[in-house]
Amino acid sequence: MRPRLNPTPPPELLQKPVVGVLLPLPLAGAYDYKLPPGSNAARGAIVAAPLGNREMLGVVWGTAEGTVGDNRLKVAEPLEGAPALPGKLCDFIDWVADYTLNPPGAILAMALRSRGAFEPEAHRTAYVRGSVTPPRMSAARTRTLEIASDGLARSISGLAEDANVSAAVVRGLVQAGALIPTQLPEFAPFKQPDASFAAPQLNTDQAEAAKVMTDAVAAKTFSAHLLDGVTGSGKTEVYFEAVAEALKQDRQVLILLPEIALTLQFLERFAARFGVRPAEWHSDLSQKERRRTYRAVMNGEARVVVGARSSLFLPFPELGLVIVDEEHEQAFKQQEGAIYHARDMAVVRARIEDCPVVLASATPSLESYVNAQSGRYTHLKLVSRHGVAEMPEVRLIDLRQERDGPDVEQKAQWLSPPLRAALEKTLAAGEQAMLFLNRRGYAPLTLCEACGHKFTCPHCSAWLVEHKYKRRMACHQCGYELPMPSACPQCHEPGTLIACGPGVERVAEEFAAFFPGARYAIASSDTLMHTGPGEMQGPLRLFARGEIDVLIGTQIVAKGHHFPQLTLVGVVDADLGGSDGDLRARERTFQLLHQVSGRAGRAEKPGLVLLQTRNPEDAVMQALARGDRDGFYEQERSFREASASPPFGRLAALVISGHDGDAVRDIARQLGKAAPNARDVKVWGPTPAFYALLRGQTRERLLVQAGRGVDVQAFLKAWLATVKVPAAVRVAVDVDPVSFF
Ligand code: ADP
Ligand code: ZN
Repeated sequence: MRPRLNPTPPPELLQKPVVGVLLPLPLAGAYDYKLPPGSNAARGAIVAAPLGNREMLGVVWGTAEGTVGDNRLKVAEPLEGAPALPGKLCDFIDWVADYTLNPPGAILAMALRSRGAFEPEAHRTAYVRGSVTPPRMSAARTRTLEIASDGLARSISGLAEDANVSAAVVRGLVQAGALIPTQLPEFAPFKQPDASFAAPQLNTDQAEAAKVMTDAVAAKTFSAHLLDGVTGSGKTEVYFEAVAEALKQDRQVLILLPEIALTLQFLERFAARFGVRPAEWHSDLSQKERRRTYRAVMNGEARVVVGARSSLFLPFPELGLVIVDEEHEQAFKQQEGAIYHARDMAVVRARIEDCPVVLASATPSLESYVNAQSGRYTHLKLVSRHGVAEMPEVRLIDLRQERDGPDVEQKAQWLSPPLRAALEKTLAAGEQAMLFLNRRGYAPLTLCEACGHKFTCPHCSAWLVEHKYKRRMACHQCGYELPMPSACPQCHEPGTLIACGPGVERVAEEFAAFFPGARYAIASSDTLMHTGPGEMQGPLRLFARGEIDVLIGTQIVAKGHHFPQLTLVGVVDADLGGSDGDLRARERTFQLLHQVSGRAGRAEKPGLVLLQTRNPEDAVMQALARGDRDGFYEQERSFREASASPPFGRLAALVISGHDGDAVRDIARQLGKAAPNARDVKVWGPTPAFYALLRGQTRERLLVQAGRGVDVQAFLKAWLATVKVPAAVRVAVDVDPVSFF
């Protein structure tokens, strides 16, 4: 049973002067407040509500509880002129709260990310031509007034720039009364995307898929679609047609991307199709940009928003289409704070808004694949690459066989002879190559040869990773850093530290030794991010322009990018994902390697992918080598079905954490004992989490496995009510967990 929708209460119920106000805080529910005499705020209205000795924004949520006497109620002031949150957004917030077992206020906090958006709009001063002409004129003055005569209002610096004069000239004209001030809104309006700016000629398959989606948009009712197309088949072009249709229908569009790293390239691509960039929404926006975008979404000025998962909670008044690109990505699952899956909640939002949702991927999640197979989603397939491009050939390199012989002068540790031969050939042909290893830094483990000491993080159960360029060791979980030591801190012997295993920096080092003339760059989140979001794409851009030959990168290079000259992809360690970790390890490994393989040969020249593995017989490796994606999915599906794993059964996790390890283990034990008996429900644990220590917090886990028909939320609620948890211990609920760390 799914939680029921909370319908918007009828307006007559809301006209009472006492209302329930939801505050953006993790409180149990809405609090009662009085409204000032004469006002009647409906659901969604923004109010300033006193709480303790502060005042905060709240939202009228519904009728009052009536548990507090009228005379003791505080007054919430409706915010003058502030637009209300759309009723459907309020319904969505309730739904997400019910489903994820988070307090609704914690979800509301994600929807009220910009307080400033509700305050009266600020203005800026600009100048237009007045009727006065000053007696003393100069060439500069004449030019300035000529420019200003077009009627446009410009700032002092803007006008100075347009007329090519100094700001002093403009100020002089203001003083003389020749330019008169006028008030403009703080922000220039968003430019409107043009549905027919540069529409592509679609091929037959593409046109068919586009037709289904544009019809769905025109129908203005809920429908779900899986746009399942091989890498390079033109999924983006195809869903852009649905975007164009929504624009024609005067509806807004939300496009969710898994990572900010992908947005910049996407914005440009969108502009090439629609003439202007869309609005963007992610954590790198400044307060000001946030205010501008939030407001523009709310008043309908922003027609298309591209964003990370948090954009799901923006106040669209007329949403007509939701797109989730790379829908299989785990980054859509928010693991901190309120735990929710943005892809799943995007489908819910579309249902509440009564509009279509499109999930796009070349390697769908097994959940979406099953939904498409069963007909719950329409299955739109693009089976070939657009134009002349073919799918790349995938070959396995068996690392157990391929070693440098004794006669080779320079021995390789990470790049086997066949991979080196292929690199040589590619470079000689003037083409580009990519080396992929999903591990940042130089080496994942450093140990002392003399005493066996391993460098671990003091706050996490994790090794410290050497970063050679930064000359530091870093914990990839909490960010703890240490300058690279020269001696072992335990036995103090000098020169005994050895780096174990490769990270991208180490692969790059070996590559440079073998190919001294080649131009290469490393791309990983740490080397890209520290330059700031604007420059984030540096190495990727150089690679796209052909200014470097080889890109050596982590998963950040695996997705979404289109490099026409890239013909060789070498996967340094295809076994890294592991196939016997958690439930989704095989699926994830397949998706990642398939995605990274999909970077090769996307234009005229055919692509080659070399996977270095120690398990060439493994089903994932075999499926990749044979290009048998659906075979892999069918196998994975029957495996999940046999074990009643999602989507054929349900999972939920409790993660108990806190600084006091004994208290954490105690609560975990109590919860373990208190698990209610219910049909078709099994509870596993408690056990220490994979990261038993994370950021100084001890962590224990419990896992609930339930049949498909079980009301997991009701089960969890009943269970959690039995144990009193002290404030120092946190119990996080993760419904439909996707990772098990
Ligand atoms: P996917 O998202 O499926 O990997 P893309 O949408 O990125 O594929 O398309 C791959 C490349 O092919 C892009 O450069 C895109 O512009 C081009 N392309 C796809 N379809 C068309 C088309 N109908 N006309 C022109 N170019 C196309
Ligand atoms: Zn750490």
